[in-house]
Amino acid sequence: MNIKKTLLFPLMAALLLAGCSEKREEAQKQLAMQKEENLHEVTTFAMDTVMMFHIYHEDGDAILIEVEQEIRRLEALFSITVSDSEIAQLNANAGIQAVDISPDTNGILTRGLEFASLTDEAYNMNISPIVSAWGFATDEGNRVPSLEELESVLPLTTPDGLVLEEDTAYLQEAGMSVDLGGIAKGYTADLVVDLLHEKGVTNGWVSLGGNLSMLGTKTDGSMWELAVQNPIDASDYVGMISATDQSVVTSGGYQRYFEEDGVIYHHIIDGKTGYPADSGLISVTIVSEDSTKADALSTALFVMGLEESLDLWRMEQDFEAIFVTEDGRVVATEGIADRFVFEGRDNDFVYEVVDK
Ligand code: AMP
Ligand code: MG
Repeated sequence: MNIKKTLLFPLMAALLLAGCSEKREEAQKQLAMQKEENLHEVTTFAMDTVMMFHIYHEDGDAILIEVEQEIRRLEALFSITVSDSEIAQLNANAGIQAVDISPDTNGILTRGLEFASLTDEAYNMNISPIVSAWGFATDEGNRVPSLEELESVLPLTTPDGLVLEEDTAYLQEAGMSVDLGGIAKGYTADLVVDLLHEKGVTNGWVSLGGNLSMLGTKTDGSMWELAVQNPIDASDYVGMISATDQSVVTSGGYQRYFEEDGVIYHHIIDGKTGYPADSGLISVTIVSEDSTKADALSTALFVMGLEESLDLWRMEQDFEAIFVTEDGRVVATEGIADRFVFEGRDNDFVYEVVDK
């Protein structure tokens, strides 16, 4: 009798569990279907780039209108082409006077200075006079500046030139300027994700010109998957990353460049030379919960090159990276390796994982 009881109990428990798990599966399926019905997608153009939103929420349309308004608000503060933006005013008043700034402008400039210091100025938003000399600041047309011209503007690019107070900012010398192109999308993505969380959105993603931020998982509970582009061939990719609640940002010379006399000049500048960075990397992808940091670091690490980048990664705890090198290697840091599937063998890429 006792034996029967003890045998029966596990059997019943198993049946009960089976019943539970069937019900749970069914409930999960229904929830996923319900969520799928609440999918809202919008594509728009802002900050000089294509932006896409993919969120699940019954009030998705109204929420995405608020998201778009938030992006326009930030663009009106940060843009260097909108003449009354706070950053354009800061630049126009260089060497003249301090200008009033809002908390968000203070926030992004503070983080910009933080990353300039962290990367030994590989990330440097004060590099703007050189970006302009190459014609990358606006659509004014690209050109190769003379060495004399570069030498004359290089002293204007020190981050120390920016005096930042809580409510004001000042560029100390005429000709100094700030360009947030390397960080603004990441900063905006972080604020958009905060807003979506506030509105109760738990699943989805936003793509601000390729700066991807993910909320939660897919509706079936599995991770979001995204491709890391082959920088040599836009229709191809070198691998897939699985991620949840993280941001994935890629920088590469292939994203914006011009050609003159058979030489390609791209838009990420090495402040030490005044020339487009030539560090042996062709793309850098950063994975981090902090999209502002991912954006700043993807730009900076592209300038720094592989070895210096790995030194920084070993010191920091909150980001992982995937590098594509000029000599055909795809190099992943160990913290992302188990969520990265390398698929570049057919393109003759070689895959390596680096330990901390
Ligand atoms: P990203 O696409 O995020 O790598 O940013 C590239 C953009 O940042 C360029 O188009 C410039 O506007 C700006 N930029 C270029 N070089 C640098 C640099 N070394 N540090 C900070 N911003 C830069
Ligand atoms: Mg960047």
